[in-house]
Amino acid sequence: MAVTIKTDEQIRILREAGRIHARILDELEVMVVPGASAKDLDQAAEAKVRAAGAEPSFLGYRPDRHTPAYPATLCVSVNEVIVHGIPTDDMVFKDGDIVSIDLGLNYQGLFTDSARTVLVGKVSKEKAQLIYDTREALARGIAVARAGNTVGDIGHAIESFNNKRYGNVRELAGHGVGLAVHEDPYVPNYGKPGKGIELKPGMVLAIEPMFNLGTSDVVFHDDGYTVTTADNQASAHVEHTILITDGEPEILTEF
Ligand code: MG
Ligand code: MG
Repeated sequence: MAVTIKTDEQIRILREAGRIHARILDELEVMVVPGASAKDLDQAAEAKVRAAGAEPSFLGYRPDRHTPAYPATLCVSVNEVIVHGIPTDDMVFKDGDIVSIDLGLNYQGLFTDSARTVLVGKVSKEKAQLIYDTREALARGIAVARAGNTVGDIGHAIESFNNKRYGNVRELAGHGVGLAVHEDPYVPNYGKPGKGIELKPGMVLAIEPMFNLGTSDVVFHDDGYTVTTADNQASAHVEHTILITDGEPEILTEF
């Protein structure tokens, strides 16, 4: 789907969707505790989304016709799982895990996408630092997401903050969002300043760095969704849906 410029009315709805989205992630975050299962979390997520008058946008989503429909509301990605972990009953959180929870919302026909990586109990210093740095990389990417800059500026900000300290996943990327789960442009977490599509007011982007403690190499699994690090070291993933404006970028998926 082409790059779209959202209307004022669509932006109004997306702001509302983003606030609901942030609130639900806040409520889910505190449920990520030792002994809880990813399936429990997913069921809670679906109930909260529907109670808010929205629909889970990942549930039933098919990225292409060769892939089965996604079976859950959340992607729950534990430790070496980078993204798109399918929540199951036997996926039980334990002390020391880091867990990415990724939620897609369809609210009044408009789509937001946001993820957080949560620490379970007492997490190693290096995993905690990985999460803080991935969050900071997202903030750096958002800071340059301004009209007149380009998609390459976003990727460059993320990649240069990483500065080869972590594996920086290249096979997966951020994307346009708002009128669909995934829209153009493709927003990689690396790039060259000034290169790629120019950002314009009214564009809505999901920016989502994924940093790994070890290699940047990834493995795509047979279920069609799960992506893990090739060396099974931990990975962190954070994501916001943002609006490009005339001035400062507006983070839609936070209060
Ligand atoms: Mg997402
Ligand atoms: Mg996304």
